[in-house]
Amino acid sequence: MLQMPDSKIIYDNHGRPITYLRLAVTDRCNLRCFYCMPEDGVKYLPKSKVLTYEEMLRIVGVMAKLGIQKVRITGGEPFVRQNLMDFMYQLSDIEGINEINITTNGILTGQYIRQMKEIGVRSVNLSLDTLDQKRFFEITRRDEFPKVNETLYRLIDEGFEVKINAVVMDGKNTEDIIPLTELTKNHNVSVRFIEEMPFNGEGLHYPKLEWNLHKILAELRTTYPDLQKLKDAPSSTSYNYQVPGYQGNVGIIAAFSRTFCGTCNRIRLTAQGDLKTCLYDDGVLNLRDLLRDGATDEDLQNQLLVAFSNRPKDGFEAERNRKSIVSESMTTIGG
Ligand code: SAM
Ligand code: SF4
Repeated sequence: MLQMPDSKIIYDNHGRPITYLRLAVTDRCNLRCFYCMPEDGVKYLPKSKVLTYEEMLRIVGVMAKLGIQKVRITGGEPFVRQNLMDFMYQLSDIEGINEINITTNGILTGQYIRQMKEIGVRSVNLSLDTLDQKRFFEITRRDEFPKVNETLYRLIDEGFEVKINAVVMDGKNTEDIIPLTELTKNHNVSVRFIEEMPFNGEGLHYPKLEWNLHKILAELRTTYPDLQKLKDAPSSTSYNYQVPGYQGNVGIIAAFSRTFCGTCNRIRLTAQGDLKTCLYDDGVLNLRDLLRDGATDEDLQNQLLVAFSNRPKDGFEAERNRKSIVSESMTTIGG
């Protein structure tokens, strides 16, 4: 089961603690979301290039010794990878890992609720960009709204802390901002509106991001003029608000405007073992290759420490340092 926090914490070259890993367990997915991949999908990695669970456990073990405490399982769609629950049980046994959460599209999630509880998962981020079945199909190119909606209510009923992730897309789902906010009236859920990023396998969808945090906030304030600002947690990526009298809250994640970099405590490991110390970098180190070349835990630790002490100040610096423009799919990055 999950352990109590380890006191050892590593700080990066900008004084930010590194405590949080987002772990993509697969690059495969059962949806084709407009903002994430092209209609005909992305070329999936051959299985031999994907980290095995054993390799992931070893890497997380080394990271935990360096102060990683929290792991978010992501992908691709995590639940399309076989034996995910067995892996998560083992992950929860790693000393120092005291929180495991998951981000999912909700299609296969329902059948694993009991096991997630046993493992100690408390928070689930569910991606749901619209409450309209037709728009859901247009955005995800699959007709799975009823299943995802059912998962949403099951997660709420089972007492999970539920965060709904909704990417705001010009001309696609802006009419959903208010209906999604209305979900917070009678349910203690967080609805987080995310600025669309160019990680869709194609590059920028628009010449300029139309729906940035200011416009999303203005839209909310038009319907809810007395929207209240909430105090944000120290490493929060969202600016959080509440409609007075509502049970839940709403947040805006400025993923494109990158206003949260100053307190960023997270690193990413892609399904093929690339370490990303910023969402906008193009991978600073391949841990799979190091492992398969026979690296010891001490070698891994040393390489990780070098990477942590060379983090870009923010997502703009990371983007400038890239070898190619931002256009890969979030499914390969791990959201
Ligand atoms: N398949 C799972 C899901 O959809 O929740 C986990 C992986 S998905 C890549 C993680 C998160 O990234 C989702 O909430 C999704 O909405 C978000 N995302 C994907 N592409 C994005 C983009 N281009 N801009 C902003 N958010 C994006
Ligand atoms: Fe799949 Fe998630 Fe990407 Fe949608 S956002 S295509 S569900 S990985």
